[in-house]
Amino acid sequence: MESLKDLLIDEMKDLYSAEKQLVRALPKMEKAAKNQNLKAAFASHLEETRTHVERLERAFEMLGQKPKAKTCKAMQGLIEEGGETMKEDGDRTILDLAIVGAAQRVEHYEISAYGTVRAIARQLDRKDVADLITGTLEEEAGADKKLTQIARELYGAVGNSRAKSASQG
Ligand code: ZN
Ligand code: FE
Ligand code: FE
Repeated sequence: MESLKDLLIDEMKDLYSAEKQLVRALPKMEKAAKNQNLKAAFASHLEETRTHVERLERAFEMLGQKPKAKTCKAMQGLIEEGGETMKEDGDRTILDLAIVGAAQRVEHYEISAYGTVRAIARQLDRKDVADLITGTLEEEAGADKKLTQIARELYGAVGNSRAKSASQG
């Protein structure tokens, strides 16, 4: 690893692995979620994530490289931890909130990594690559924001269920 370009390619290999892991994990998260909006959020982010994989492939090609993944251990860990959350028993809304927490950790990791990739691309005057990454970053940020909104809805449902059980004595 001698140059900024080497570093850029290395960061992209990590993200390529991370995104491909997510393509496999998101259907499981969709299945585990009980809230319909949360299910729908995972389904639509799966489609976006497939596009993220394709954009990375395009970026590799723009840089004269064959797309290659280098196992992202961080994403493996985040997905593994989220998987443990999904195995827990308990209140459906609380479990959905736990899944949202796991999913937002994933989005924040991606946002951070793509931010690095875009900064390096800009430093290398590769506006073409940086612009491609911006499209993905916007979708990652949108997914994160949607999860925050769903969490707010779920907190409301927790409040309601508490009020209900209190009124039932
Ligand atoms: Zn992504
Ligand atoms: Fe990584
Ligand atoms: Fe994402």
